[in-house]
Amino acid sequence: MNRAFGLIAAVLSVVLPVSSGHAQSGIEKLYILNCGEGVAGDISRWSPGVNEGKSMDFVDNCYLIKHAQGWFLWDTGIPDAVAAMPNGLAPADPKAIFWHRPKTLAAQLDQLGIKPSDIKAMAVSHTHPDHIGNVEMFPMTMLYVQKAEYDWPGANNEPRFKPGHPVTTLEGDRDVFGDGSLTILSTPGHTPGHQSLLVKLPKTGAIVLSGDAVHFKSNWDNRRVPAINSSKEQTLASMQKISETLTKEKAQLWINHDKEQRDSLKMSPEFYD
Ligand SMILES: [Zn+2]
Repeated sequence: MNRAFGLIAAVLSVVLPVSSGHAQSGIEKLYILNCGEGVAGDISRWSPGVNEGKSMDFVDNCYLIKHAQGWFLWDTGIPDAVAAMPNGLAPADPKAIFWHRPKTLAAQLDQLGIKPSDIKAMAVSHTHPDHIGNVEMFPMTMLYVQKAEYDWPGANNEPRFKPGHPVTTLEGDRDVFGDGSLTILSTPGHTPGHQSLLVKLPKTGAIVLSGDAVHFKSNWDNRRVPAINSSKEQTLASMQKISETLTKEKAQLWINHDKEQRDSLKMSPEFYD
Protein backbone atom coordinates (compact mmCIF):
# COMPACT_ATOMS: atom_id res chain seq x y z
CA MET A 1 0.00 0.00 0.00
CA ASN A 2 2.70 2.46 1.02
CA ARG A 3 4.51 1.82 -2.22
CA ALA A 4 1.32 2.51 -4.17
CA PHE A 5 0.73 5.81 -2.34
CA GLY A 6 4.38 6.70 -2.83
CA LEU A 7 4.03 6.06 -6.54
CA ILE A 8 0.87 8.19 -6.78
CA ALA A 9 2.56 11.00 -4.86
CA ALA A 10 5.59 10.81 -7.15
CA VAL A 11 3.39 10.97 -10.25
CA LEU A 12 1.35 13.89 -8.88
CA SER A 13 4.46 15.84 -7.98
CA VAL A 14 5.50 15.68 -11.63
CA VAL A 15 2.06 16.46 -13.03
CA LEU A 16 1.18 19.15 -10.48
CA PRO A 17 4.24 21.16 -9.53
CA VAL A 18 3.92 22.63 -6.04
CA SER A 19 2.75 26.25 -6.21
CA SER A 20 4.92 28.78 -4.40
CA GLY A 21 1.75 30.67 -3.48
CA HIS A 22 2.65 33.76 -5.51
CA ALA A 23 2.79 34.23 -9.23
CA GLN A 24 6.38 34.78 -10.28
CA SER A 25 6.99 38.50 -10.64
CA GLY A 26 10.03 39.90 -12.37
CA ILE A 27 9.95 42.90 -10.07
CA GLU A 28 12.26 42.82 -7.07
CA LYS A 29 11.77 46.20 -5.40
CA LEU A 30 10.52 49.74 -5.63
CA TYR A 31 12.06 52.92 -4.19
CA ILE A 32 10.18 56.21 -3.69
CA LEU A 33 12.51 59.11 -4.47
CA ASN A 34 11.98 62.68 -3.29
CA CYS A 35 11.58 64.64 -6.53
CA GLY A 36 10.31 67.88 -5.02
CA GLU A 37 8.38 69.57 -2.25
CA GLY A 38 6.16 72.58 -2.69
CA VAL A 39 3.35 74.78 -1.51
CA ALA A 40 0.26 75.40 -3.63
CA GLY A 41 -1.03 78.99 -3.39
CA ASP A 42 -4.71 78.07 -3.86
CA ILE A 43 -5.81 74.44 -4.03
CA SER A 44 -9.13 75.32 -5.69
CA ARG A 45 -7.00 75.34 -8.83
CA TRP A 46 -7.34 71.53 -8.60
CA SER A 47 -10.88 71.48 -7.15
CA PRO A 48 -13.02 74.18 -8.78
CA GLY A 49 -15.25 75.94 -6.25
CA VAL A 50 -13.85 73.96 -3.31
CA ASN A 51 -11.28 75.19 -0.76
CA GLU A 52 -10.87 78.55 -2.51
CA GLY A 53 -7.90 80.53 -1.27
CA LYS A 54 -6.59 77.64 0.81
CA SER A 55 -2.92 76.81 0.59
CA MET A 56 -1.64 73.23 0.78
CA ASP A 57 1.68 71.41 0.85
CA PHE A 58 2.47 69.25 -2.16
CA VAL A 59 5.13 66.61 -2.74
CA ASP A 60 6.53 65.30 -6.01
CA ASN A 61 7.78 61.71 -6.30
CA CYS A 62 9.81 59.64 -8.69
CA TYR A 63 9.69 55.85 -8.44
CA LEU A 64 12.60 53.58 -9.18
CA ILE A 65 11.79 49.93 -9.88
CA LYS A 66 14.19 46.99 -10.03
CA HIS A 67 13.06 44.35 -12.50
CA ALA A 68 15.04 41.21 -13.34
CA GLN A 69 15.57 42.70 -16.83
CA GLY A 70 16.86 46.05 -15.51
CA TRP A 71 16.03 49.32 -13.75
CA PHE A 72 12.89 51.26 -14.65
CA LEU A 73 12.23 54.90 -13.65
CA TRP A 74 8.71 56.36 -13.41
CA ASP A 75 8.63 60.18 -13.63
CA THR A 76 11.67 62.42 -13.20
CA GLY A 77 10.36 65.28 -11.03
CA ILE A 78 11.25 68.92 -11.10
CA PRO A 79 14.70 69.75 -12.52
CA ASP A 80 17.67 68.97 -10.27
CA ALA A 81 18.85 72.56 -10.91
CA VAL A 82 16.07 73.76 -8.58
CA ALA A 83 18.02 72.24 -5.66
CA ALA A 84 20.63 74.98 -6.12
CA MET A 85 18.07 77.82 -6.06
CA PRO A 86 18.08 79.25 -2.52
CA ASN A 87 14.48 80.51 -2.83
CA GLY A 88 13.15 77.64 -4.94
CA LEU A 89 11.15 77.93 -8.14
CA ALA A 90 8.31 80.45 -8.05
CA PRO A 91 5.31 79.76 -10.32
CA ALA A 92 4.05 82.26 -12.90
CA ASP A 93 0.54 81.84 -11.43
CA PRO A 94 0.59 82.52 -7.65
CA LYS A 95 -2.20 79.92 -7.21
CA ALA A 96 0.11 77.21 -8.54
CA ILE A 97 2.98 75.46 -6.74
CA PHE A 98 6.12 77.07 -5.34
CA TRP A 99 8.64 74.24 -5.68
CA HIS A 100 11.76 73.37 -3.72
CA ARG A 101 14.07 70.43 -4.20
CA PRO A 102 15.61 69.27 -0.93
CA LYS A 103 17.56 66.48 -2.69
CA THR A 104 18.56 65.97 -6.30
CA LEU A 105 17.52 62.90 -8.25
CA ALA A 106 21.19 62.38 -9.18
CA ALA A 107 22.24 62.28 -5.50
CA GLN A 108 19.50 59.79 -4.61
CA LEU A 109 20.52 57.45 -7.46
CA ASP A 110 24.16 57.83 -6.40
CA GLN A 111 23.25 56.90 -2.83
CA LEU A 112 21.86 53.62 -4.21
CA GLY A 113 24.97 53.05 -6.31
CA ILE A 114 23.09 53.51 -9.59
CA LYS A 115 24.41 55.44 -12.56
CA PRO A 116 21.97 57.12 -14.98
CA SER A 117 23.22 54.75 -17.71
CA ASP A 118 22.05 51.80 -15.55
CA ILE A 119 18.41 52.83 -16.12
CA LYS A 120 17.18 50.54 -18.89
CA ALA A 121 13.75 52.06 -19.45
CA MET A 122 11.70 54.98 -18.19
CA ALA A 123 8.28 56.51 -18.54
CA VAL A 124 6.71 59.80 -17.54
CA SER A 125 3.09 60.14 -16.55
CA HIS A 126 2.81 63.32 -18.63
CA THR A 127 4.80 66.30 -19.83
CA HIS A 128 4.17 68.93 -17.15
CA PRO A 129 7.43 70.40 -15.83
CA ASP A 130 7.22 68.71 -12.41
CA HIS A 131 7.38 65.28 -14.12
CA ILE A 132 9.82 65.72 -17.02
CA GLY A 133 12.46 67.89 -15.31
CA ASN A 134 15.28 65.34 -15.59
CA VAL A 135 14.48 63.24 -18.67
CA GLU A 136 17.74 64.25 -20.33
CA MET A 137 19.79 62.98 -17.37
CA PHE A 138 19.10 59.64 -19.12
CA PRO A 139 19.86 60.36 -22.79
CA MET A 140 20.26 56.66 -23.73
CA THR A 141 17.29 55.31 -21.76
CA MET A 142 14.25 54.05 -23.68
CA LEU A 143 11.31 56.36 -22.94
CA TYR A 144 7.74 55.04 -23.01
CA VAL A 145 5.18 57.74 -23.71
CA GLN A 146 1.72 57.87 -25.23
CA LYS A 147 1.70 59.05 -28.83
CA ALA A 148 -1.02 61.58 -27.94
CA GLU A 149 1.38 63.17 -25.42
CA TYR A 150 4.46 62.94 -27.65
CA ASP A 151 2.65 64.62 -30.54
CA TRP A 152 0.96 67.28 -28.36
CA PRO A 153 2.55 70.58 -29.43
CA GLY A 154 4.45 72.37 -26.68
CA ALA A 155 4.95 76.10 -26.17
CA ASN A 156 5.76 77.82 -29.49
CA ASN A 157 4.96 74.50 -31.20
CA GLU A 158 8.15 72.98 -29.82
CA PRO A 159 8.45 69.22 -29.33
CA ARG A 160 7.91 68.01 -25.76
CA PHE A 161 10.97 65.77 -25.80
CA LYS A 162 14.40 66.07 -27.35
CA PRO A 163 13.85 64.55 -30.81
CA GLY A 164 16.93 62.27 -30.55
CA HIS A 165 15.86 60.62 -27.30
CA PRO A 166 15.11 56.88 -27.76
CA VAL A 167 11.33 56.55 -27.55
CA THR A 168 8.54 54.00 -27.80
CA THR A 169 5.24 55.75 -28.46
CA LEU A 170 2.16 53.95 -27.16
CA GLU A 171 -1.50 53.96 -28.09
CA GLY A 172 -3.04 52.43 -24.99
CA ASP A 173 -1.80 50.12 -22.25
CA ARG A 174 1.61 48.38 -22.37
CA ASP A 175 3.02 45.41 -20.47
CA VAL A 176 6.57 46.77 -20.34
CA PHE A 177 8.56 43.58 -19.66
CA GLY A 178 6.04 41.09 -21.08
CA ASP A 179 5.47 39.29 -17.76
CA GLY A 180 2.53 41.31 -16.41
CA SER A 181 4.58 42.79 -13.55
CA LEU A 182 4.71 46.37 -14.84
CA THR A 183 1.88 47.78 -16.94
CA ILE A 184 1.54 51.31 -18.23
CA LEU A 185 -2.14 52.30 -18.15
CA SER A 186 -3.42 54.87 -20.60
CA THR A 187 -5.31 57.40 -18.40
CA PRO A 188 -5.83 60.56 -20.48
CA GLY A 189 -7.62 63.68 -19.28
CA HIS A 190 -5.14 65.64 -17.18
CA THR A 191 -3.22 65.93 -20.45
CA PRO A 192 -4.04 64.30 -23.84
CA GLY A 193 -1.65 61.38 -23.34
CA HIS A 194 -1.49 61.06 -19.57
CA GLN A 195 -0.63 57.59 -18.23
CA SER A 196 -0.48 55.75 -14.89
CA LEU A 197 1.49 52.66 -13.83
CA LEU A 198 0.40 49.31 -12.37
CA VAL A 199 3.26 47.66 -10.44
CA LYS A 200 3.03 44.14 -9.01
CA LEU A 201 5.50 43.67 -6.17
CA PRO A 202 6.21 40.15 -4.85
CA LYS A 203 5.39 40.87 -1.18
CA THR A 204 3.67 44.27 -1.08
CA GLY A 205 1.27 43.29 -3.86
CA ALA A 206 -0.18 45.53 -6.56
CA ILE A 207 0.11 49.32 -6.56
CA VAL A 208 -1.20 51.87 -9.05
CA LEU A 209 1.01 54.95 -9.32
CA SER A 210 -1.41 57.74 -10.17
CA GLY A 211 0.66 60.21 -12.10
CA ASP A 212 -1.64 63.24 -12.06
CA ALA A 213 -4.83 61.30 -12.88
CA VAL A 214 -5.67 62.67 -9.43
CA HIS A 215 -3.63 65.08 -7.27
CA PHE A 216 -4.72 64.30 -3.72
CA LYS A 217 -7.05 61.98 -1.84
CA SER A 218 -10.03 64.29 -1.31
CA ASN A 219 -10.14 64.88 -5.07
CA TRP A 220 -10.09 61.10 -5.60
CA ASP A 221 -12.83 60.47 -3.04
CA ASN A 222 -15.03 63.16 -4.60
CA ARG A 223 -14.00 62.62 -8.24
CA ARG A 224 -13.07 66.30 -8.61
CA VAL A 225 -11.49 67.40 -11.89
CA PRO A 226 -9.04 70.33 -12.00
CA ALA A 227 -10.05 73.18 -14.31
CA ILE A 228 -6.63 73.01 -15.97
CA ASN A 229 -7.19 69.45 -17.27
CA SER A 230 -7.36 68.92 -21.01
CA SER A 231 -10.63 66.90 -20.81
CA LYS A 232 -13.09 66.50 -17.94
CA GLU A 233 -14.81 63.50 -19.61
CA GLN A 234 -11.52 61.68 -20.20
CA THR A 235 -10.39 62.44 -16.64
CA LEU A 236 -13.55 60.92 -15.15
CA ALA A 237 -13.29 57.88 -17.44
CA SER A 238 -9.64 57.42 -16.42
CA MET A 239 -10.54 57.63 -12.71
CA GLN A 240 -13.14 54.93 -13.35
CA LYS A 241 -10.55 52.79 -15.14
CA ILE A 242 -8.14 53.17 -12.21
CA SER A 243 -10.91 52.33 -9.74
CA GLU A 244 -11.74 49.13 -11.66
CA THR A 245 -8.03 48.24 -11.80
CA LEU A 246 -7.72 48.68 -8.02
CA THR A 247 -10.61 46.27 -7.49
CA LYS A 248 -9.46 43.72 -10.06
CA GLU A 249 -5.82 43.68 -8.89
CA LYS A 250 -6.55 44.30 -5.18
CA ALA A 251 -4.19 47.24 -5.62
CA GLN A 252 -3.33 50.27 -3.51
CA LEU A 253 -3.46 53.73 -5.12
CA TRP A 254 -0.38 55.85 -4.49
CA ILE A 255 -1.14 59.47 -5.37
CA ASN A 256 2.01 61.22 -6.50
CA HIS A 257 1.40 64.72 -5.10
CA ASP A 258 -0.43 63.73 -1.87
CA LYS A 259 1.85 64.77 0.98
CA GLU A 260 -0.23 63.18 3.73
CA GLN A 261 -0.02 59.82 2.00
CA ARG A 262 3.69 60.12 1.24
CA ASP A 263 4.38 60.95 4.87
CA SER A 264 3.02 57.47 5.66
CA LEU A 265 5.29 55.71 3.16
CA LYS A 266 8.93 54.61 3.28
CA MET A 267 11.30 56.79 1.25
CA SER A 268 14.54 55.69 -0.45
CA PRO A 269 16.95 54.20 0.58
CA GLU A 270 14.22 52.13 2.22
CA PHE A 271 12.18 50.21 -0.33
CA TYR A 272 9.14 48.04 -0.96
CA ASP A 273 9.52 44.48 -2.20
ZN1 LIG B 1 2.21 67.11 -11.36
